[in-house]
Amino acid sequence: MQITEIYKSLQGESTFAGLPCVFVRLTGCNLRCSWCDSEYTFSGGRRMSSAEVEAEVNRLSPPRGRKRLVEITGGEPMLQERELIPFMRRLLEQGYIVLLETSGERPLGNVPKQVHKIVDVKCPHSGAADTFKDENLAALSEHDELKFVLSNRADYEFARDFVKQRKPKVKEVLFSPAFRKDARGERSASQCLLDPEQLAQWMLADGVEARLGLQLHKFIWTPETKGV
Ligand code: SF4
Repeated sequence: MQITEIYKSLQGESTFAGLPCVFVRLTGCNLRCSWCDSEYTFSGGRRMSSAEVEAEVNRLSPPRGRKRLVEITGGEPMLQERELIPFMRRLLEQGYIVLLETSGERPLGNVPKQVHKIVDVKCPHSGAADTFKDENLAALSEHDELKFVLSNRADYEFARDFVKQRKPKVKEVLFSPAFRKDARGERSASQCLLDPEQLAQWMLADGVEARLGLQLHKFIWTPETKGV
């Protein structure tokens, strides 16, 4: 697999937020979201065998028998599906809780059912609108999560209507304000493209069945910090 980085941190943006987690960040992405904070994953990285990645995950994780969380992210990890699927199966066999962060642009039908998919449906202002494949809704289960990263009212309305019309059968729907791409220094909601208070008001007014999520790691570490 082509790997940008493997590190231990706290999970930041799902119902697992706040839990210790090992991240495996795969290199390469086929989208170019306007607010992307992971452009360093688009190229480079280093070639590692699945066994080498697994050994590093084991080294960074608590011993077997304790809660062991691994998130596969990117870039777009499903671009390396051929090696990734057997790799995730091996992690599951070892008792890991496996999270997969993906845009849902690639088919998700082959992902093992026990993997918790966190699917980041791209909204209009991301610059990658209409990339989510509707057929992937059928591949989602009640332990998966759908995430919408929102920059403005148009994004919010897209997400609200998506949930209302398609009624996804998932554990949770997450609405999260996008962070400014050029955010530096201050750890504050003022660095969000969409004010969380404004988003909360819209969600309450519309009675949206979703959870407001903040990118936890952007409030713990300064927004420009990588590898967290
Ligand atoms: S899918 Fe993720 S990694 Fe790819 S451009 Fe969008 S935000 Fe960046």
